[in-house]
Amino acid sequence: MTIQSFIPPQRTLMGPGPSDVNPRVLSALARPTVGHLDPTFIGMMDEVKSLLQYAFKTKNTYTMAISAPGSAGMEACFVNLLTPDDTVVVCRNGVFGARMIENVQRIGANVVVVDGTWGRAVDPQALEDTLKQTPQARFVAFVHAETSTGALSDAKVLCEIARKHNCLTIVDAVTSLGGVELNVDDWGIDAVYSGSQKCLSCVPGLSPVSFSEQAASVIKNRSSAVQSWFLDQSLVMEYWSGQGKRSYHHTAPVNSLYALHESLVVLQNEGLENSWQRHQTQHEKLATGLQSLGLDFIVPKNERLPQLNAVHIPQGIDDAKVRQFLLNEYNLEIGAGLGQFSGSAWRIGLMGYAARNENVLLCLAALKEALAQ
Ligand SMILES: *Cc1c(COP(=O)(O)O)cnc(C)c1O
Repeated sequence: MTIQSFIPPQRTLMGPGPSDVNPRVLSALARPTVGHLDPTFIGMMDEVKSLLQYAFKTKNTYTMAISAPGSAGMEACFVNLLTPDDTVVVCRNGVFGARMIENVQRIGANVVVVDGTWGRAVDPQALEDTLKQTPQARFVAFVHAETSTGALSDAKVLCEIARKHNCLTIVDAVTSLGGVELNVDDWGIDAVYSGSQKCLSCVPGLSPVSFSEQAASVIKNRSSAVQSWFLDQSLVMEYWSGQGKRSYHHTAPVNSLYALHESLVVLQNEGLENSWQRHQTQHEKLATGLQSLGLDFIVPKNERLPQLNAVHIPQGIDDAKVRQFLLNEYNLEIGAGLGQFSGSAWRIGLMGYAARNENVLLCLAALKEALAQ
């Protein structure tokens, strides 16, 4: 039998990502491919840089998109900044903090873990206490928006503490970018990475990153080469720099970058602050509805992510059956629990284009029917 074209079903994506892709982004993706050193494409890449500076609220020159998903952005930050001699304090309150620890360990650097409760924000006092006992620490790493639990940490306060102890900060903003306040320059974040498929409502596969002047100088002054050739930012920057003389590093994912460009234009047209507000407004509507269905949030109210709503699965309810019902009957995807919450939680995403009235109403109606059965 001949294999036919793949025609995916039309789903509504309300899980932990990928989120619903804006139709404008999908059509940008289908535009004609040009050469990756074509002058028009280079102009577009420069625009992507400045749009990312807008989204991250930064003036950092070292701002670009890595040609790979969020996890590659994470790895890029760690492999470029760290050497095996370094000590890094990593805050772990979910799956992605744990992934940061793995990165540090694979580099052979020293890791000191600040362990927190899953479903809670990172405790600033615990970070402070650890830093007092770890004077050799050079970096602090934490996840701003922990998608595995739905908890939002106070990045501003955590960065202040890190700075007080002379540490540079590495921040995971994969789920926060575009969905909640993120202020890279004001908060003094030194290295930040995100993903295209969460609150930017772009297709998966790109990871926006930004490095402060101080982080950039750490990278420039390394005495050993970065262990990853592909993620070596000093090479990648030659490709992304706007000085006219771009040198080939790898072939940029041309059409994916059209898509990212479009998603950032959409964000700019809406206004960054308006986008944060929209996520909050839709979250409040969803939260009211979920609570009236008897579903309780895992995270305390003042630490909740609007774009990722994690609720306990009620006693006697079959997790897989409900999610299957939503998918089969409503073409609606919500997220299962991850790590410690595997089997005991649902994670309902309201990311980017999915943070709309239509989605909230659909999700509540579908869940109500599923729970009644
Ligand atoms: C999704 C996510 C990642 C990983 O991104 P990928 O694009 O799946 O590699 C990292 N950190 C957080 C907080 C995430 O939500």
